[in-house]
Amino acid sequence: MTEARLVRNQMPVRTAVAARDTYQAYRADLRRDFFNACGYCGDEDERVDSVVYHIDHFAPKTKFPTLETAYENLVYACRYCNVSKSDHWIGNDAAVSHDGTRGFVDPCSDAYEQHLVRKESGAIVGATELGKYVVKRLKLNLIRHELLWQARRARRLRRDVEQLLALLESRGEDEGSDHHKLLKRYRALNEAIEDYELRAHA
Ligand SMILES: [Zn+2]
Repeated sequence: MTEARLVRNQMPVRTAVAARDTYQAYRADLRRDFFNACGYCGDEDERVDSVVYHIDHFAPKTKFPTLETAYENLVYACRYCNVSKSDHWIGNDAAVSHDGTRGFVDPCSDAYEQHLVRKESGAIVGATELGKYVVKRLKLNLIRHELLWQARRARRLRRDVEQLLALLESRGEDEGSDHHKLLKRYRALNEAIEDYELRAHA
């Protein structure tokens, strides 16, 4: 079975939300619209209680203060991507995020997944010159992004394995059968891969 390898598991979509006084007040809206994941690398926030996710200003607020509370300019981001992105911006126009080879791509635009791809290993690479610039600037080639993606895949596979084991049991299949042994070994492997995640967060 071939699995689609998107940089993010789901495309974030900014829904229409009521205007709020501070950008921090949009946290819950952003978390929902970005499916609990960093808009840039796709790392999920669900298992990182100790790490508070950041709210990134796509066009930096230091350069474009009028966009500080504009929801369309906000990105739910892990601290690695947000800190790497910092106040970088090409030019002086908030509406021009890149020149074709340098700059950033709005993570909520369809173009994002065209400039960046996820390899079989889980590594994020640039598919275009601009994509390569984004990878370098946001440090999307950090090993943690690869490991966390592998851990997410392992968790999904493990859910499949649990369902298969439950099915075998419902059919009254012998606990010592080859099916059972194979699935249990597979489950143990997945658990080992999940350990990567803990190390990536360390
Ligand atoms: Zn990130």
